[in-house]
Amino acid sequence: MKKKELKNRKDSRSASKTSRAAAGRQRIQSKIIDDVFTDAVEMVKPRFEVDFSAYLDRLWEANPEIYNCLKNASKLEEARDALYSYLERAEREIFKIDNDLHILEKATVRECIRAFKSIIGPVNEYRTGVSALDFLWKLARGKRKELINVVSVGFIMEFINLFRGVAGKANIYFESKEARKGIPDFLRLEGLEASEKRTEILDDMGATIQKYFKKYASGLEPDVIDWRKENRERILNYFGGKESDWNDYLWHLKHVIRDAEPLLSLIELTTEQREAIKKAHKNRIPFGITPYYLSLMDFNLSVGYDHAVRAQVIPPPEYVELMSGHRRDRGIIFDFMGEHDTSPIEHVTRRYPCIAILKPFNTCAQICVYCQRNWEIDEVLDPKAAASKKSLEEALDWFDNHRSIGDVLVTGGDPGIMQDEPLRRILEELAGKDHVYRIRIGTRTPVVLPMRWTDSLVKIISEFHEPGRREVAIVTHFEHSYEITPEAMLAVQKIRKAGIGVYNQEVFTIENSRRFESAKLRRDLRLIGVDPYYTFNMKGKEETRRYMVPIARIMQERKEEARLLPGLDRTDEPVFNVPKLGKNHLRAWQDHRLVMILQDGSRVYELHPWEKNIKPVPPYNYIDVPIYDYLEELAARGENIRDYRTIWFYY
Ligand code: SF4
Repeated sequence: MKKKELKNRKDSRSASKTSRAAAGRQRIQSKIIDDVFTDAVEMVKPRFEVDFSAYLDRLWEANPEIYNCLKNASKLEEARDALYSYLERAEREIFKIDNDLHILEKATVRECIRAFKSIIGPVNEYRTGVSALDFLWKLARGKRKELINVVSVGFIMEFINLFRGVAGKANIYFESKEARKGIPDFLRLEGLEASEKRTEILDDMGATIQKYFKKYASGLEPDVIDWRKENRERILNYFGGKESDWNDYLWHLKHVIRDAEPLLSLIELTTEQREAIKKAHKNRIPFGITPYYLSLMDFNLSVGYDHAVRAQVIPPPEYVELMSGHRRDRGIIFDFMGEHDTSPIEHVTRRYPCIAILKPFNTCAQICVYCQRNWEIDEVLDPKAAASKKSLEEALDWFDNHRSIGDVLVTGGDPGIMQDEPLRRILEELAGKDHVYRIRIGTRTPVVLPMRWTDSLVKIISEFHEPGRREVAIVTHFEHSYEITPEAMLAVQKIRKAGIGVYNQEVFTIENSRRFESAKLRRDLRLIGVDPYYTFNMKGKEETRRYMVPIARIMQERKEEARLLPGLDRTDEPVFNVPKLGKNHLRAWQDHRLVMILQDGSRVYELHPWEKNIKPVPPYNYIDVPIYDYLEELAARGENIRDYRTIWFYY
């Protein structure tokens, strides 16, 4: 990424960061609990009064040797040399026979040294246009006043943790009383005694997981089902519908909510939500909610379970602002994945050798705020959404000349809301190509319009599912356990009974990233018959930055939460869709590397694109959301951020 581009992104990011934090500011006091130290240090927002010196003291206390390297260097390059020498020594130290640091802590030391060496590497400074080392050196040399408005607390927190890690004081594994006792009892014992001791510990852990799970209501819980019945009645009354209309998907499509008015009458909205919807409507920004999906929202804001549901469809102000500002060039500006450059023929996108995407229908039953294709969807239920007969035929014919493509993803928009017959014809055409062994249908209808799964639709789709010859699969997108309802379960079960698999692609956002929140979603999905497939890190699209979660959190979730659950509850893979370059598996350490920490505390990652498998394209520099800002937002939402303290050590 060019330096200028990097800078522009930094500037616009800090504007939207402010708005996300602003929401939190109204709700929290000026302090949040510090998550690093056992003694009390005030972790105060930079906007409030910050005792910068206290943070700096902590920084230097975290690793006095690093402090000396920085303080004693009269030139930046001297500091760099001194640090490299120190890091080499520190690394050698942990391999000494008489070094009795715990082997797990040693592993963290190695990780932290690797990260720190990368951050102080001149090539990374050159590529990012920022030198974290320069800031640290100046701070150590007493230039605090010069930097007080430049370097954030988030930046310092990153280095406090990194320095502690390098010094072997990360203390990730030895915080709990149990761990501090040393070798666990069950390892000292044998047989039944060992098993009983182990069971005690596992019961405790299991109880903790259950405690977290309880925080996240599922739509299958009796209370939730009851109050949603009331929602349904209110909605039917509002539109003059009958009870029987509720199961008719065409009734829902006819009454899709396109502006603020029905919402104002049917649920309580915050002022911000009200204003944003009105503005979106005025500026013709795609907006729509099915009556069914509206019934999943809590009538009163105070209930608070429906945050993920609301966030899915009610646009935040900065989204409306950015989308309004780019009405004419939206198709280019928001095409984050560069689909313009991977479309060999209209309606087809191809990035990989064996897979291609067919987009026959360019609209949806409702509009998701953080849709990857928000650049090409003009309006909800757009009457002009269907591909013309001629262009669709050409697109389908195109596959005949590209016989390595065995897996075709039919998506859009949402092909699930096409009429039965046109959809059947597309499936029939694809099934007629002997090289196509899988047809995936990407649709959110199980989540936003489950009544669409009529017997006739299931029959049509199952006609083309021929085990041993061709698989048809449904790929959908549940975000939260609260979206899992009896209606959704019924739709999924109908599909499964026809022998067709249903898979989920979750997007990891601020709305489902709390401790065990996504783990609960996966478990609930499995219970209704959906297999978790991908967990996507939010793309760095400016208009949806409010939803973003640091990469470190997705990796922490994988290790500290998902890993505790049965394998079938975590069949998904965490991925980052690198802009214009395809999927990057976040668990593959060789595919990403931390290269810099910017002054606002955001990490810059070098992501190696999928493309490196076929040609030597350069890596992509990605600026993440600062961990500190993310923790602030969690605190604003009532989380105890001590729960997340190890996040800093996921690089
Ligand atoms: S259903 Fe899919 S294509 Fe349609 S708006 Fe939502 S994410 Fe985008």
